[in-house]
Order: sequence, then structure tokens, then C-alpha cells
Amino acid sequence: KMNTDIGQHVLKNPGIAEQIVNKADLKQSDVVLEIGPGTGNLTAKILDQAKKVIAVELDPRMAAEVTKRFQGTPAQKRLEVILGDVMKTELPYFDVCISNTPYQISSPLTFKLLATNPAPRSCILMFQREFALRLFAKPGDKLYSRLSVNAQMWAKIDHIMKVGKNNFKPPPLVESSVIRMVPKVPRPQIDYEEWDGLLRIAFVRKNKTLRASFIGTPSIMNILESNYRTWCAQHDIPVEDGPTEDADGDVMDMGEEEQGAEADEVMEMDDDDDVPDFFKEETNARLQQAIKTPSRKKKGKVAELVREKVRQVLEDDTSLGEKRARMCDENDFLKLLWAFNQKGIHFS
Ligand code: SAM
Repeated sequence: KMNTDIGQHVLKNPGIAEQIVNKADLKQSDVVLEIGPGTGNLTAKILDQAKKVIAVELDPRMAAEVTKRFQGTPAQKRLEVILGDVMKTELPYFDVCISNTPYQISSPLTFKLLATNPAPRSCILMFQREFALRLFAKPGDKLYSRLSVNAQMWAKIDHIMKVGKNNFKPPPLVESSVIRMVPKVPRPQIDYEEWDGLLRIAFVRKNKTLRASFIGTPSIMNILESNYRTWCAQHDIPVEDGPTEDADGDVMDMGEEEQGAEADEVMEMDDDDDVPDFFKEETNARLQQAIKTPSRKKKGKVAELVREKVRQVLEDDTSLGEKRARMCDENDFLKLLWAFNQKGIHFS
């Protein structure tokens, strides 16, 4: 009896299992990590082509079944079954990952694999169709999102094949796709918290211009000001505090620069808030809170300075102010992050 609550839909078509494994271009010397072997349909094909399979399985009944399946065969000593939740398991070394993934853990598993060091040569992963489409969506595509930019920052992702739901027992509600994910080597040397902080701001409203997402959003400007003060303090840079000449208290000023966003506008949330936090060193709670809480524009010299720096980055340094997040690729975001950091503007 299958437990669909934990994504138990076994592949019943051996032809598809074979095709998936063939796409991995395995070598005889490879150690393969398999997530959720279930009854072992993929496992059998992998064992035909690789030196060793390490299979992590959450369900003790399945772990017992896959172990039993190879008992007394020559493959027995080349299969290691780890009983447990893959998300809580410290992964041993592996060359390639092959997984008919339990869809509940698609996003955290993707980022766990991307954070693995040393990086695997490739990962062949079966996902729910929509998740797969979001992973490799390109700027301008309807499904392009923070998940897309983030995954494509760390890996090259290709679609390999579609798999209809009738190839599974029991059939899931959704169609599936197999993708190949090849981590970039060497790993891009960027600060993940800074990078993700920038993306979170840009993708809160991915259809708005970056100018509106930054300068037109007082809650974001406030957090950037506070980050700037911290940065100055850490680098012994004095900040010239105090209100600006025309300041009239902490009153909201809907000047010409607020076009495109209302200060108290309730924001739509990021359409994929599922890029997991554990991938970062620690959750940037402050930034998350700021994005969710509308606030008023502060008027003060530091606020004005930060605003001017952000304007310079968007208009003069990168000319990306009028571009919308949904049209920006990872190089645009890298350019932005670099230019912001140059001016002492930080996102974590
Ligand atoms: N690989 C088999 C196949 O293709 O026929 C079964 C795939 S089935 C979609 C997913 C498997 O992952 C199930 O056996 C389920 O028990 C297991 N699983 C679910 N969540 C898991 C987790 N967090 N860690 C490890 N295994 C998990």
C-alpha cells in the first residue's frame, strides 16, 4: 500500500526508468545517490551501470523492501540503504544524484544538492511539471521567478523529458518532467545572503520596474538605510545625521519619485517563497519583515544619501532602473549587486 502523503508514486514503466538512468551518463566507477528508492525500480537500473548506490528512504517498509529485493544478488554489497529523511541526513560523497523526487521536498532538495560540496557531476531529477518549468524558465517567461534565477545562478538546468502520470502507480494528480542539473564549477563566489536579499526585494513585485521596487518602496528604503548605517559603523565611516532642510517630521512625502508604488500599498508576495532559508547561513528575518510590512518614508540626511546612492546605481551605473525583475537575468542581478555593494548598500 502506497503512502501518497509522502509522495509514494512508483514508476511502473521500466522503459522510463531505463531512459532516466541512461541520461545520467554513468561511469562504472560512479557512486550514485538515490533519493526515495521506493520498491527499487530505478535502483535496479542504476546498479547495472554504477559502482555503488546510496539510497536514502524515509519509509521503513520501503527501505526493507528495496533491501530485500537485492538480497542474495551480486548487487547486494553495492547497495547502501540509509533510513531517514533526506533533508535531515548528512549526505556522504556521491558523483551523481538520480531521483524520482517526492514532490513535497522539490525545492529544499534542489538547494541541498546545489549546496553539496564537492558538487556532484550532475543530478537527474524527476519533478512535478510546473516546478520543473519554473526551474529552467528564462527571463520573460511567465514562470520566471526567484526560484529560476537562484537555481540558474548555481547550475545549468536542462529539460530532458516529459513523463505522463499514467507511468506511475498510483498515478499522481500532476504531470512530471525529468531535468538535468549540472552545478557550475567553480561555484560562483558570491555571498548568498546578499544575493538572496537582493532577489527577494526585486521579486516581491516582479512586474514592477526595479526603480519602483527600490526607490518607490519606503519599507525597502528604510531597511537599506539601516543596513547602510550598520555598514558605516563597521567601517568607521561617520554619517552626517539629522533631518534634511525641508523636513517636516516623519511625514510621508509622495514626491515624483514615488511613481509606480504607493507607500502603504499592500504588497503581493513573491510568487515562490519556497527558496528555502536553510541554504543561507541564517534567515534574514529583518529583511523579510521589512518586505512584508508597509512603512512610511523617512526624511533625514542619511535617508536622502541612501536614496541618491540607489538612484545612481539604478540609473547611472547599471541603467537597470526601468527594467522589470521578470526580464532580468542572473547577470543583471550580479551587476546590480556589485554596483550596490560598491556604494556601501547591502542586503544582509
Ligand atoms: N524511486 C521510486 C520509483 O521511482 O519508483 C519511488 C519514487 S516515489 C515518487 C518517492 C519515494 O521517496 C517514496 O518511496 C517515499 O517513501 C520516499 N520519500 C518521501 N519523502 C522522503 C524524504 N524526505 N526522504 C527520503 N525519502 C523520501
